[in-house]
Amino acid sequence: MKVLVVGSGGREHALCWSLSASPLVSELLCAPGSDAIAREAACVPLAIDDLDGIVAFCREQGIELVVPGPELPLVLGLVDRLASAGIKAAGPSAAAARLEGSKAFAKDFCARHGIPTARYRAFRRDDAEAARAYLRAEGAPIVVKADGLAAGKGVTVAATVEEAEAALAQAFGGAFGAAGDRVVIEECLVGEEASLFALVDGQNVLAFGTAQDHKRVGEGDRGPNTGGMGAYAPAPSMTPALTERAMAEIVRPTVAGLLAEGNPYQGVLYAGLMLTERGPQLIEFNVRHGDPECQVLLPRLMTDLGQLLLGVADRALGHMDLRWYPEPALTVVMAAKGYPGAYETGSEIRGLEDAARVPGVTIFHAGTRIEGGRVLAHGGRVLNVTAQGATLAEARDRAYAAIDRIDWPEGFCRRDIGWRALRGSV
Ligand code: AMP
Repeated sequence: MKVLVVGSGGREHALCWSLSASPLVSELLCAPGSDAIAREAACVPLAIDDLDGIVAFCREQGIELVVPGPELPLVLGLVDRLASAGIKAAGPSAAAARLEGSKAFAKDFCARHGIPTARYRAFRRDDAEAARAYLRAEGAPIVVKADGLAAGKGVTVAATVEEAEAALAQAFGGAFGAAGDRVVIEECLVGEEASLFALVDGQNVLAFGTAQDHKRVGEGDRGPNTGGMGAYAPAPSMTPALTERAMAEIVRPTVAGLLAEGNPYQGVLYAGLMLTERGPQLIEFNVRHGDPECQVLLPRLMTDLGQLLLGVADRALGHMDLRWYPEPALTVVMAAKGYPGAYETGSEIRGLEDAARVPGVTIFHAGTRIEGGRVLAHGGRVLNVTAQGATLAEARDRAYAAIDRIDWPEGFCRRDIGWRALRGSV
């Protein structure tokens, strides 16, 4: 099978790393990929939003399965375009991808199908006065969300009504472009966050593990939000009973609801959960693998990823099962100093080969380029130093042992990834 992965970050590096080991995959390509991904896959210079280019390339090259990494091409309709051309893909249609592409759609969908989530109301820009009135009536803390894709920056968890009003003014003022044409205002949920993943083939659902991530840039989970500074899998708080409850109350009703509405979901469904006193509540859906969560899920996967993703595309998951290695995995993101604000690119990173020799360690590249054998930083989040161990503490120790071998003065990482799960252990 000729497979094309779409994307260029650490998530896509992990997808290519996993798929390159699949006996079903005879040729692996990646658009646009990266210099590091080029070690696993042939890279093709096509942008992720160049749907015409990607479809034409797949036709010419006889690509048999497309694996989209990021949400943007999914929301733009890449899978629909591929389907019209008779090309299989392991990702949702644009209609099903609205679960991530429009928070108002996702909330209304949850309301229609009785899926537990924070109480909310959605407002359009020309209804700003009603939105402000709702904010004041509800009081703080309260959460304000731009409806559309806002590169992870569209959510404000406001501690005061003033902060919430400022977030509302920002969204309606155009800070997120068309993504802020509508805003969802919702109840602030309290609890521990965890992520639950599922593979879905339209009808059948396979639980695809749990993870927790660290979104804030600073230790102790403080400071500005980022795309994610680290993650680990499985999430210890997602006990088998709680996982089954979230599958039964959130994931399976979502899949059944989309099917009933005529928009069957195929792909990875990522449910961001808050574990509240009322039980698991949905914070948000993502319609693809997490980044960096994918980098801790895939090293634990014993079953062939190629076979599973083909099962997603062929609606054949009902005949499949999957198995995990028991060892937990943890990844630490190394970022360029200044991230998530302004940062410089081009600094050299040394010691990666030595770091990768620490037992259990795999290093995924999120934003590097390689010039004459020299690895240079080429993004905000740059490396995902991933390790497995007999325990989560051992995985963490191995990841940081590898990081200590990396010579990159212009980079930084959090030293406390996993702290919530590791409280009480050494
Ligand atoms: P999202 O982009 O929807 O994942 O939101 C980003 C982050 O905001 C989440 O990971 C949560 O930490 C937080 N968040 C979003 N919605 C809520 C909510 N209703 N209550 C509390 N925190 C929330």
